[in-house]
Amino acid sequence: MKQKQSSKISRRRFLRSSTAAGLVLTPLHSLLSVKNIDTGSTKSIVVIGAGLSGISCGYELVQHGYDVTVLEARSRPGGRVRTYRDPFADNLYAEMGAEYVNESDQFVRSYCDKFGLEVLPAKQYDGIYLRGKRYVMADFKHFKQALPYAGTEGGNLFGQEYPYIERWVTMIKSIDDLPQKVLDLDNISVAELLKRGGAPKDVVELYTYTNATESTALPKNMSALSMVLANYQASAFSENTVEGRIFGGNDQLAKKFAKIIAANVHYNCPVRKIKHSKDEIEVFFEESGRRTSIKGDRCVITMPVSMLRRTAIEPYFPDDKMHCIREQSYGHVMKIAMQFKRRIWDESGSIGQRVFTDTPLLRVYHHSIDQPGPRGILLSFTSGADAMKLGRMSENRRLKVAHDTAEKLWPNTQNTWESGISKYWNEDPWLRASYSLAGVGQKDFRDILKRPEGRVHFAGEHTSIYRASMNGAIESGVRASQEIIKTGN
Ligand SMILES: Cc1cc2nc3c(=O)[nH]c(=O)nc-3n(C[C@H](O)[C@H](O)[C@H](O)COP(=O)(O)OP(=O)(O)OC[C@H]3O[C@@H](n4cnc5c(N)ncnc54)[C@H](O)[C@@H]3O)c2cc1C
Repeated sequence: MKQKQSSKISRRRFLRSSTAAGLVLTPLHSLLSVKNIDTGSTKSIVVIGAGLSGISCGYELVQHGYDVTVLEARSRPGGRVRTYRDPFADNLYAEMGAEYVNESDQFVRSYCDKFGLEVLPAKQYDGIYLRGKRYVMADFKHFKQALPYAGTEGGNLFGQEYPYIERWVTMIKSIDDLPQKVLDLDNISVAELLKRGGAPKDVVELYTYTNATESTALPKNMSALSMVLANYQASAFSENTVEGRIFGGNDQLAKKFAKIIAANVHYNCPVRKIKHSKDEIEVFFEESGRRTSIKGDRCVITMPVSMLRRTAIEPYFPDDKMHCIREQSYGHVMKIAMQFKRRIWDESGSIGQRVFTDTPLLRVYHHSIDQPGPRGILLSFTSGADAMKLGRMSENRRLKVAHDTAEKLWPNTQNTWESGISKYWNEDPWLRASYSLAGVGQKDFRDILKRPEGRVHFAGEHTSIYRASMNGAIESGVRASQEIIKTGN
């Protein structure tokens, strides 16, 4: 099967990020070396949200001499970077939010270097469980086993959809000059495009699973243009992609930023209203149950769009911005961490340590590879319709499904299961979503959402070319700080 293997960023990231706009990569060192324009007085900036975008933005602004106030609704920094430690024994931990750092994630890697954090390689997929059958990834790659899906070829698990969209991909000669026919693909969904390309139902179903971590929505809700551009622009995310994780937990990165600017960060301060004029901004928030406000020269909104649409804005931003705020697509996502007394997945006859499945849990893997045993944690990542379905269940029911699924993959878990815990991000009060995606008709959304409106600036993964990633969150935070520094007033 022919797959495009060129270019610098992985398809995993690009799928999340692509729009019709050209991909312009600004070198990290140039972003970090913007000089503060000397205005003669200290400018006050209010940053809303202390996820990686807000905390990196606040950090950069403090380094450049600004008077910064970060308002965060939660009692901790990091937002969607959430490492659970307490529920587990023996100092084990689990990433219930953002987990993987790609090789090309220059913003994450650069700040990890700066703060002395190590990124260790993660386990690659070594097992497959589909339609009740077990496959060894190595056998599958060497054409010794075939998938039970009509229209698929051996050798590759990911990218089976490519032959059905190839004609669109080859129509593109330059990302800056897309044919109208290709641009029009923004009006149809990925499911529709695959159907028109003659893909059997099985290929569409398999794509739902292979794409489950890139975009947490179903193919019928994703823009076909975004998918075609992803295939044109980026190398394929596949079973061979090397990914890393911050040793000791990803939460350390957000905490390092936050500690350095500790005096500037205010926790338990949910923002309820943002007022802006040509002269100043005023942000209304709650503190210890009281409603209060703070005025400033500029503000940076980094909260997810799913929360911004629940926040009062006075006066409204222009119509196109308000439309994007109301309509930006998100999916559904849930992780479940399971603690076992023994690492049964390491024992002989195991299906593997990182298993790709079509069970409700979708991806199930040994999370604690960098942590000493004998106990260990299995983590699952589920999204889309499966996450929604699990999300409607009680915690006990979710854990029963998790345990039953683990039992299917590694029989005889009965005496080794100890406990489990789920995190369904769509019920998180400060997110109510997963991560942003290019929905049908949303090709321009990212650029509109990112555009400053007078004294109000915007950051957050949804504004980044590296959408839906920690890297994108930091890129956007640094970019917003740079916008302010360059303005000088
Ligand atoms: C389950 C899951 C798995 C993921 N896996 C990966 C992965 O493997 N690799 C990867 O790179 N990325 C992954 N991501 C994506 C990554 O977590 C995000 O792209 C990134 O962390 C987003 O950062 P942010 O600052 O834009 O938003 P957030 O982290 O959401 O930060 C926004 C902050 O705003 C705060 N806030 C919200 N409303 C208000 C309000 N009214 N007032 C004040 N504060 C408010 C929130 O509490 C939050 O702290 C994953 C995400 C999830 C949910």
